[in-house]
Amino acid sequence: TIYLDHQATTPMDPAVAEAMHTAATECFANPSSPHAAGIRAFREVERARGTVARFLGAARSEIYFTSGATEGNNLAVKGVVGTGSGAPVRHVVTTAVEHKSVLDTCRSLRAGGHEVTVLPVDAEGRVDPARVAAALRPETALVSVMLANNEVSTIQPVARIAELTRAAGVPLHCDATQGVGTLPVDVRELGVDLLTFSGHKIYGPKGIGVLYVSNALSDEAPLVPLLHGGGQERGLRAGTLNTAAVIGLGRAVELLAAGREREAGRLAALRGRFLAELAGLVPYTLNSGTGVGFLPQAVNLSFEGADAQQLLLEVTAVAVSSGSACNSSAQEPSHVLTAIGLPPERIRGSIRVGFGRFTTEEQAVRAAHALAAGVLAAQPVRTA
Ligand code: PMP
Repeated sequence: TIYLDHQATTPMDPAVAEAMHTAATECFANPSSPHAAGIRAFREVERARGTVARFLGAARSEIYFTSGATEGNNLAVKGVVGTGSGAPVRHVVTTAVEHKSVLDTCRSLRAGGHEVTVLPVDAEGRVDPARVAAALRPETALVSVMLANNEVSTIQPVARIAELTRAAGVPLHCDATQGVGTLPVDVRELGVDLLTFSGHKIYGPKGIGVLYVSNALSDEAPLVPLLHGGGQERGLRAGTLNTAAVIGLGRAVELLAAGREREAGRLAALRGRFLAELAGLVPYTLNSGTGVGFLPQAVNLSFEGADAQQLLLEVTAVAVSSGSACNSSAQEPSHVLTAIGLPPERIRGSIRVGFGRFTTEEQAVRAAHALAAGVLAAQPVRTA
């Protein structure tokens, strides 16, 4: 199978697997243990934390390991708002195209009596910073805007939004899960106070992620933890660290940092080759942009009259996604494609194709042929 579903997850880089194997067998001691073996594990964990910190332009003390972006997003939003009983009613601003781990977290806050503003986006999936500013209120506790969208690849104007939230004294959280792989992500340049990502979208392990929280924010208004216990991660996230996964994530970040810009260019070229090949075989409509302001490695497109779910099952030679894989169990149309104004038929015929580190040009071309053949085979025979 030609794997072109890198927005759902990425294959683990062999160098990461190797680092994890060594970590799991030789670095098994509890990194909180004060004996020599524990200290060794602690050192390895802290080395990985340092790698992540440098990668984000943050301090080591601002990096917290979580189980992934879902937990990071939950912790950022609930941690800042505070969900204890008797807490004052707070307000959160977010966008209609966020991942469900942000949107559903906000919905749970609403159920708890807090207020949430979900901002609309334009036809490209972009939120207007002026709308963010206009939505701020004295009781606004947090703004959460993603770096790049997992379905339509739109890059949000996070740095511009940060200028506005900063001026208003409101913390800004950014879900950078889809952006870290190909975009430069420096927390100071972006101006964010909190930022999340997951290991498995950058050729690292699943079940591990990062939450950045600026020390300025922690000092001013410490986050309320979701998990209480042994006080790990400076009391913000209790539980024995998944040492091997942390070390694997550190290795994945090292690999990423080494060649991100060149790789982003290579991926954009692969995508271009795929689309050019496809154009000669079957008509399609783009649902996402392929220029400035969009991730270079993915594209969302629709085949007219096609049922994408059916197509994915029939074209076994290629692994792509219809809508968002994170929601694939839900049969409702994608909330992102709906938010950018696509009609239901176009959503029904939509697929997301995402290229990755191990994709070759030959695979991109073969995938175009396999998908086109699948689309044409499914079309009803036209009679004169
Ligand atoms: N945010 C975004 C933008 C994502 O694409 C994903 C993964 N689909 C997540 C959050 C959740 O990541 P995880 O499943 O690793 O918790």
